[in-house]
Amino acid sequence: MRAEIVSVGTELLLGQIVDTNAAYLAKQLSELGITLHRRSTVGDNMDRLMLALNSAISSADVVLTIGGLGPTMDDITRDGLAAAFGDALQMDKAIADRLRAFFRLRGVPFTESNLRQAMVPVRGKALDNPHGTAPGLLFEAENGKIGIALPGPPNEFIPMVENHVIPYLKAKTGGVGVIKSLVLRVAGMGESLVEEKVKDLMLDANPSVAPYAKVGEVHLRVTAMADRAEQALALIEERAALVRARLGDAVYGTNEEALEHAVVALLARAGATVSTAESCTGGLLAGRITEVAGSSEIFPGGVVVYSNAAKTDLVGVPAELIERVGAVSPEVAQSLAEGVRKRFSSTYGIGITGIAGPGGGSAEKPVGLVYIAVADETGCQVEKANYIGSRAIVRLRAGQTALNMLRLKLLE
Ligand code: AMP
Ligand code: MG
Repeated sequence: MRAEIVSVGTELLLGQIVDTNAAYLAKQLSELGITLHRRSTVGDNMDRLMLALNSAISSADVVLTIGGLGPTMDDITRDGLAAAFGDALQMDKAIADRLRAFFRLRGVPFTESNLRQAMVPVRGKALDNPHGTAPGLLFEAENGKIGIALPGPPNEFIPMVENHVIPYLKAKTGGVGVIKSLVLRVAGMGESLVEEKVKDLMLDANPSVAPYAKVGEVHLRVTAMADRAEQALALIEERAALVRARLGDAVYGTNEEALEHAVVALLARAGATVSTAESCTGGLLAGRITEVAGSSEIFPGGVVVYSNAAKTDLVGVPAELIERVGAVSPEVAQSLAEGVRKRFSSTYGIGITGIAGPGGGSAEKPVGLVYIAVADETGCQVEKANYIGSRAIVRLRAGQTALNMLRLKLLE
């Protein structure tokens, strides 16, 4: 079964709201094994709505619209769908009565325009909306094509999808077919190298493997379609195992598990702790670590050492060293890592110093130059990075590198 979603609303085109409803619906359709082959958005304009609906009906079995079911002049989806499906609308007495009662209860004057919401397709039916005034609408054309109109407000939309759309489509498809996916999260390896290593595993359509470049990491989405969930999951497991074998330790987690989660888990397992001395990241790293529930076991504390004086006073970086080699240097990164490790008596110490930009760069030390050090009892590892991107990106990537360096140490 092929589906299309048409979102209706000028506010979507103006970027004033994000189409969270369509994203939610897309996810539900994939769970049902229904192929969503296009999504489109049109404003509150009848000509353009008709173009979108006719095009959708010509190629999909089921067309789902979002929004534009209200009582006002710009709510045109109901009329548009009726025209596109060659159906007429008629007044549903029960819905009209309920609307009147609803307004009476709220003490709001009832205007005739509200009765538009009681108009339902002759061949189709209304979908109950206990959270609002506009019911959803189901159109069934003579050629078997289906149209489903859903209200825009998410608190009305989501229950209607759950209570009406999913059971209806499940019955239509016979309840078979499901699409599942698993995201493998990769750190410390660029997108092109990841792709190079798993290129041949990306050729199949089912299961499919697709890479997404993120800030300081790469995600590989493994997706499979099958009649039953267990079959889809088995296909995914098999392919994911092949990917893992190729990428090794670079795969650090799955789905929603961020790098800090993996690091906190490894530290906890090792019974180890880490403390941080951050200059250019300004506490971002400590923030990420402490976002993970249970991090108090592995994180005694950290310091933000923005000024040279703070570096010296709080973690004992020799003033003479800063004077001689500069605050952004491998020596100072190392001194930060070792100093903070000692200060908190932790297993590992992390030091970060760099130039996040946009100002403050020079030919010798450009914006994006960051030194990251990880110290333990055996010594200190320092990495030099030249990140490209905005201040926010440079700071994020520095934290990402630090977490990954520590993760790899913990895996040794
Ligand atoms: P409408 O039913 O088109 O009058 O939309 C009513 C309200 O629902 C809008 O003002 C938005 O706040 C919300 N809404 C409409 N469409 C969407 C959508 N696709 N995703 C999320 N919210 C929406
Ligand atoms: Mg609207």
